Amino acid sequence: MPSSSSVTLCATFDSPERTAQLQDDFGAARFGAASRSSKRDLSHSAHQAKFGTPPCSSAFEEKGSGLVALRNVAAGEVFHSEWPFCVVQHPANSAFIRACTRCCRFAGTCGLQLATLFSGTVEEAVLNELPSVWGQEKLSDVVECPQGCGEVYCGQECRAADWKDNHNFMCVGPLDDDAPLVQFKQLAIEYADTLLLAGKVFASLVNRAQQRGRGAEAVREGMNELMGFTQGKWDDVARPAGATDEHGEGETLRLQVLAEAFELLKAALLPASPLFAPLFESDEFLSRLLGMFERNNIDVEIQSPLKQLCHSWAQQPPPAASSSSSSSVGAAAAGPASNPALRRLLEAKTVVMRYEWDEDETGNYQSTAADTSPDDAHMDEETEDDDEADEAADEQRLASIREDVRNLTMEQLLAEEWPNFHGTAFFPSVARVNHSCVPNIKMAYPRGTCEVCFGALRGISCGEEMSTSYIDSEAPRDVRQTNLLEYGFVCRCDKCESEAARVNLRR
Ligand SMILES: [Zn+2]
Ligand SMILES: [Zn+2]
Ligand SMILES: [Zn+2]
Repeated sequence: MPSSSSVTLCATFDSPERTAQLQDDFGAARFGAASRSSKRDLSHSAHQAKFGTPPCSSAFEEKGSGLVALRNVAAGEVFHSEWPFCVVQHPANSAFIRACTRCCRFAGTCGLQLATLFSGTVEEAVLNELPSVWGQEKLSDVVECPQGCGEVYCGQECRAADWKDNHNFMCVGPLDDDAPLVQFKQLAIEYADTLLLAGKVFASLVNRAQQRGRGAEAVREGMNELMGFTQGKWDDVARPAGATDEHGEGETLRLQVLAEAFELLKAALLPASPLFAPLFESDEFLSRLLGMFERNNIDVEIQSPLKQLCHSWAQQPPPAASSSSSSSVGAAAAGPASNPALRRLLEAKTVVMRYEWDEDETGNYQSTAADTSPDDAHMDEETEDDDEADEAADEQRLASIREDVRNLTMEQLLAEEWPNFHGTAFFPSVARVNHSCVPNIKMAYPRGTCEVCFGALRGISCGEEMSTSYIDSEAPRDVRQTNLLEYGFVCRCDKCESEAARVNLRR
């Protein structure tokens, strides 16, 4: 399953001055001295990083902007961390994982996570067989939005921060199904989850202006700063360069969704505050914002803590079913092989993963060309015979998955993946990192939240540019160049140049 290799980043070309200004305003990465990030950074107050904007050397003029090391960085060092400007869990992923809306941490107890994972699936029955001690294992606090919209948080701090940032305008708790905001969110879930991010950004810009005691001009300033990251409207950048969309269906659909989303969001937010007015003067800002997400967002993938927990349960004596007592005397033969409850749980999870876990849950789509799902497009034409045939094929598939899973050893079952958190986020600093097919940094989420950490893949000298790979950097040169067309540039990194030179020599 693609994970970090499929991150989509963008080389946005802009002046260092603008970068500095935006970083300052959005508090993502101040340049100069370093400071440790704390949970308070969720309010996007400034924290600092030991790296900065490039000097105006000729090498950078071509790329416009980037990030350079302001000191030597050792191989393997995590030298920067940053909370996203906005983040959203993929809607399909939330059917499997209950995560904090704000920091994306797995919320509540193991019991809550297992109930979320299994309920409504083909393995729902396993929920009645789990030892209660496992269910009680706590991952974080859990606080529901008091307005009943269904969002959960890992604690009051995240709930309050999210309310202050955007949820005061974006909560659908008290609303009827036909309210514009509810319809907007349904449209987003159906067509593009980045619309949910856009809604959060609209609300956030107004809240930031209000909290500073400022007016519509502050909203406009925020809009302009974000525009510094954009390269085009949604319908322009979402179509890979060189890709032909013969019937223009994807583009037409995108324009329809955009127009509908704009009207719904306007109907939902404009009456709530006059500060929203600049955001709804035309749909251009929304379109460019969606284009920005298309090019600059990265996947947020957070490892499920359940995998590690299962490893530790495998080392302990098996608990008695539906009992919280662990004083079982006869449990001397500890170890994975003698733990039938754990085996049953792992089997059930593996069946669900193989049967139901798909591209929608991870957001990692293999094909980028298709905008509309053929399944949906041909749904109406399906006959009853087709339905019956599908059902039979489905049952056969399930039976064969169950058979395969039954044949796995306990060690193999323990090694199988758990459903991870998957979402999409915009980080101002990440948006400034340029691409190279020989990257020197990588981004990851080792802290169990959406706080991204930049790690050095090798030693980086002071003044050297930091780069990451937007694509599979191990692929052959022509494949890399084709994949990079989607980002609108031709790579001239050392690897590409030297490989091109070798090709020329052979001719
Ligand atoms: Zn949280
Ligand atoms: Zn709410
Ligand atoms: Zn390259």
